[in-house]
Amino acid sequence: MNYRHAFHAGNHCDVLKHAALVLILARLAAKDKPFAVLDTHAGRGVYDLESDAARRSAEHLGGIGRVFEMAAPPPAIEPYLAAVRWHNPFGGLRWYPGSPAIIRDALREGDDLKLCELHPEEREALTTAMAGDARVRIFGRDGYQAVRAFLPPAARRGLVVIDPPFEAPGEYARLAEALRDGLKRWASGTFMIWHPLKDARGYADFLHTVHVLAPPRLLTAELMVKADAPGVLSGSGLVVVNPTFGLADSLREILPFLAEVLGAGEGPGWRLRAEEAGEMMIDAQG
Ligand code: SAM
Repeated sequence: MNYRHAFHAGNHCDVLKHAALVLILARLAAKDKPFAVLDTHAGRGVYDLESDAARRSAEHLGGIGRVFEMAAPPPAIEPYLAAVRWHNPFGGLRWYPGSPAIIRDALREGDDLKLCELHPEEREALTTAMAGDARVRIFGRDGYQAVRAFLPPAARRGLVVIDPPFEAPGEYARLAEALRDGLKRWASGTFMIWHPLKDARGYADFLHTVHVLAPPRLLTAELMVKADAPGVLSGSGLVVVNPTFGLADSLREILPFLAEVLGAGEGPGWRLRAEEAGEMMIDAQG
């Protein structure tokens, strides 16, 4: 396991993923009933953008760094910017919240968060970042197995975030298996899956499997920041099963903005599809 998210924290992939995550959490928190979240690939929780790793890659400069500078971002992205600002109370942009921090910040009394992280050093940092919060439990176990072990949650409403590193072949196949297992155990849960745009064939096969599973509602969103070329990370996407209400409309606002702000050269663009019971509800691109 060579992957370290510190090199990528706050890049264009994180911006898309975390902007959507904040919107999903806000909707879950809008009802009085408790919710549960399982984050299968958690990372270290919070990232120091002045660390050696972040400075060396400087990926955040082309991601959250640019979005943060925009004078009038669309309202739908404001909750995400507020989540990042909350971690930088003295202004500027030094600390970037990963998915565990963003989710923890949205929890109320009675909500529940399970985090899986296999890498011992990342897990140690994660434990420090989450210290003292009894609503959060951290597991050094395989995130895909956790889908089998922990679902359905007692709360019966909530979210599974699956954000694997895509460093080993076969990730889409593992994702498909996990989603099949997850939906079998918890058909009404929201599942948010992140994936890079660099293996079109793998993605197409994965989407085919998702359609065979026939979830009641499905949303896919893609953000391209550069031209497609072999082996190049041209952007990233989200597959959201049972998306929370309003997510597609918010992403339709956010995606063109992100393509413009984070894109370079000829390739930038976006796609959004939302389906309900096999019927297309929204199909838009730009
Ligand atoms: N979700 C995080 C966020 O948004 O801040 C970033 C996660 S990063 C893309 C993927 C993480 O998964 C890495 O920290 C890696 O060590 C961990 N990991 C890799 N394989 C895993 C597995 N099978 N189960 C749990 N964690 C895993």
